[in-house]
Amino acid sequence: MTPSTPESAPVALVDVHAHLTHPRLLESIDAVIARARAAGVSHIVSNGLNPEDNERVLALAERFDCVRPALGFYPVDTVITDMRAAGAHYPREGREFTAEEGVSWLEQHVERAFAVGEIGLDGYWVPEPFWEKQEAVFRKLVRLALEADKPIIVHTRKRERRTLEILDELGARRVDWHCFGGKVSLARQIAERPGHYLSIPANARRSESFTRMLQTLPRDRLLLETDCPYLSPDKERSSEPADVAGTARYAAELWNVSEAEVTRIVAENFATLFRL
Ligand SMILES: [Zn+2]
Repeated sequence: MTPSTPESAPVALVDVHAHLTHPRLLESIDAVIARARAAGVSHIVSNGLNPEDNERVLALAERFDCVRPALGFYPVDTVITDMRAAGAHYPREGREFTAEEGVSWLEQHVERAFAVGEIGLDGYWVPEPFWEKQEAVFRKLVRLALEADKPIIVHTRKRERRTLEILDELGARRVDWHCFGGKVSLARQIAERPGHYLSIPANARRSESFTRMLQTLPRDRLLLETDCPYLSPDKERSSEPADVAGTARYAAELWNVSEAEVTRIVAENFATLFRL
């Protein structure tokens, strides 16, 4: 049975990309989860950014039923030392780690992952001479996900087309593109790939690009996310998983359907991608 039929699991909202381990959310995590539940959110995929963060994500998933662990890291985080030595600037906080360390952590824990993420390519901070090394790490992570039969949550900046080429080449067929920043025309090409989805953040109402994606992408390829505490619908405060309800409302206005219908469509897409 799928969540689309009224007699099965209750129709529920999902946040496919959150950072519940961010200190701003973690300090009041019980209230954050309670507000998400009150807003009708049934699943929150919390994404890890490095081995230590991934450990915290796993601990949260143990504690809360609705939290599902996405384990991964940005390949850029393993080339920072070399980048800085070459004079490039990268505003990263936290402990640096090697590609070997990151990949080996994931190899040991991938069975516990709901998804592998977030992973992706960065062409915004990373200068071109480091792209090849970054791609080599990305390929390792994608292969690991494919071998373990896990969906992939991708975040890519300025390297969207290259990311798609690599995913196509490796045969990735269960992918969520989080916070897609490329051209809407490329988003449409991505949505034509079997098993590729794009998740729309909670700031959609004030983003021309996310609005156009909601208006023009096939509805059976859309998911909702927050990237909390970032990309808030309200610049004055952090976002949190409960904010997916506002995006569902916005999509309902754009599509001229009920919020329940948006929730049903997104829940079905989520269940298909994650084989629930
Ligand atoms: Zn993120």
